[in-house]
Amino acid sequence: MSSISSTSEVEDTMQIFVKDVSGHNTIPLTIPSSTTISTLRTMLSLRSSMPDPSSLRLVHAGKHLSSPDDTLSSYNIQPNSTLHLALPLRGGGPKKIRCSFKECKDAAQRIVGDCGFCEGHFCGKHRLLEDHKCSGLEDCKKESHERNADKLNSERTVAIRGV
Ligand SMILES: [Zn+2]
Ligand SMILES: [Zn+2]
Repeated sequence: MSSISSTSEVEDTMQIFVKDVSGHNTIPLTIPSSTTISTLRTMLSLRSSMPDPSSLRLVHAGKHLSSPDDTLSSYNIQPNSTLHLALPLRGGGPKKIRCSFKECKDAAQRIVGDCGFCEGHFCGKHRLLEDHKCSGLEDCKKESHERNADKLNSERTVAIRGV
């Protein structure tokens, strides 16, 4: 009956506190210091009914705990420390629309970047029909080209007649 040792049976747990995003509620947690940040995030997302643990940011002493595989102890978080939950800096809102022009990586401009001819969304550089080689413009161009040709022909006729 001497096989059960008293060591390593109880993990080295500690209590920490996590303030939620609003800062009004504090969630007490008793967890091993070997808990990883990603595990902590998952626990917190369950406790604070946040759907996406990876979107949570944890801050301790002004430092963003950004490595999911690091542990509380590797961040040197002591018992009774208070962590803060923060929302992601960005995201949640509508996704940025990228310029529809070929390889262009710029963000499309809202409303003024919309092209009514080809339904594209374009950045400041490509917003004009000519600049994004608008597929809707092709027809207009052909038309005006033909019109120009007609005009040219009639002018030529006039010139010949004038000789
Ligand atoms: Zn562009
Ligand atoms: Zn267009």
